[in-house]
Amino acid sequence: MRTIRTIRELREHLALERSAQRTIGLVPTMGAFHAGHVSLMERARREADVVVVSLFVNPTQFGAGEDLAGYPRDEARDAATAQEAGVDVLFAPPADEIYPQGFQTLVRVGDLALPLEGAQRPGHFDGVATVVTKLLNIARPDTAYFGQKDAQQALVVRRVVRDLDIPVRIEVCPTVREPDGLALSSRNAYLAPAERARAVALRKALDTAERAVAAGERDATAVATAARAAMAPYDVEPEYLALVASDTLAPVDRIDGEILVALAARVGRARLIDNTLITANSVNGRP
Ligand code: AMP
Repeated sequence: MRTIRTIRELREHLALERSAQRTIGLVPTMGAFHAGHVSLMERARREADVVVVSLFVNPTQFGAGEDLAGYPRDEARDAATAQEAGVDVLFAPPADEIYPQGFQTLVRVGDLALPLEGAQRPGHFDGVATVVTKLLNIARPDTAYFGQKDAQQALVVRRVVRDLDIPVRIEVCPTVREPDGLALSSRNAYLAPAERARAVALRKALDTAERAVAAGERDATAVATAARAAMAPYDVEPEYLALVASDTLAPVDRIDGEILVALAARVGRARLIDNTLITANSVNGRP
């Protein structure tokens, strides 16, 4: 595996690969690799000839007072993990390679970026959309891989690619979880042992929502109320818990078709997010 730190060197390397008719898969990350990241790398390894993983803690997607400075960083460990997963190139640029002096352009997505994470983290998706656009322009992959764990991010990225005519296929991979259901996240490292036990509350809320719909409940407020109640025993209060259309993220009143149940909650100093997709037919599903 090669570690590359400049745009120019990455472009030169990938131009050679492209001219040899080799396909390129890109996995954008912020590092602190866990099995969720590895699942994306392995998928890319199966599907592409050349696997590029970018490791860049993107400052523009962090708000003031968020965890940019303290975000877990361990490039040596990440490089070993990526190598083990069969990655060919680790692109780990310094911040001023991506945002040189004078940088002043942002990619801003409309309504999709406003609710859920967008409401809690103003400007977050401008930072995500901008850095992903840059990474896609730099690496020009055939396919780029993202996780369903960040469902809104995946939708935002798909929208950017469509709206800006970026020639890439976007693949969204399933959320990898701990045995108790906690979604793997670099931010789980912030959890003290007692907090780690409480963090299962997010998955419990999603389980409860899934069960309520399976039992025939179609009223979104009723499902949300049950899901919130499932978090109470863990002393975890959601920042938001929303039932929304899985394509537009517009709130739903009745569950009909595919919906996304998305939530965020603080556990100790960790801010955690999770979601599940639920499909139900309003007419047939009536108890
Ligand atoms: P991050 O380093 O947190 O920006 O994540 C990099 C990529 O890994 C994003 O596309 C995430 O959605 C994805 N990812 C993060 N956690 C998981 C997980 N538990 N399962 C699957 N994909 C994940």
